[in-house]
Amino acid sequence: MHDYHVHSNYSDGAFLQRMVDAAASAGLDGVGIADHCNVFPSEDARRHRRALGFNLDLTYERRREAIEDVCERADVRVFDAVEMDYHPDHEDEIREFLDDTGFDYAVGSVHDLDGVNVHFAAHFADKSEEERRALVDRYFEKLVALVDSELFAIAAHPDLVERNPHLRGFATDDHYERVADAFERSRTVPEINAGRLLDDYGEFHPAPEFLDTLADRGVDVTVGTDSHEPDVIAPRIEAIEEELTERGLESVTVAE
Ligand SMILES: [Zn+2]
Ligand SMILES: [Zn+2]
Repeated sequence: MHDYHVHSNYSDGAFLQRMVDAAASAGLDGVGIADHCNVFPSEDARRHRRALGFNLDLTYERRREAIEDVCERADVRVFDAVEMDYHPDHEDEIREFLDDTGFDYAVGSVHDLDGVNVHFAAHFADKSEEERRALVDRYFEKLVALVDSELFAIAAHPDLVERNPHLRGFATDDHYERVADAFERSRTVPEINAGRLLDDYGEFHPAPEFLDTLADRGVDVTVGTDSHEPDVIAPRIEAIEEELTERGLESVTVAE
């Protein structure tokens, strides 16, 4: 099995070597180092990546050499991948960056709503129900645009809003159908993401009903544990394997 979505210390994860060692111990055939990367041209976005140290747009060549070094000693195939922030207004910048850099594959993510990361629960706590509904609508609109852009091999955590308790529960069948339509016509594959499976949220992305909709349409998934620490890779892989077996789903290979 290939886990196409883990992080390293080239964004917000643990040391690259530790992540690769853990992937090998988990019995994986391949692991994709998909560190965060943002190329939005706004000053806000620049400030944000400076503040967080999300500098892969500047450090990918150094990381590439590190991956090559690690590969020589690793018992697991290691992919030089990226998790790109997506916004419909910045497709040109993203396309140019991906064309210039030549990663093994790219994962695309909608992380922001209202200019704020979906993870920041507090920002959404004071919103009215109507506002939250509109934000979740907007999330799925952006996700459909991401899939239609054909920029990415993989669409990450396709219902990220569910992990925020203030945005949870507003996704509808109509959203799921629209996203499934987009996946049917695109090269982009959704991932089954275990980033919050063993935490507070306790579900995969996509949530069970969403995964049902995708499976009914014959849309396959890639595997992504979205691990930031080495010790969570094995239990998340085990849980994903169980889920796929139970559902009779095959995982898609995007790089080998
Ligand atoms: Zn993400
Ligand atoms: Zn991630």
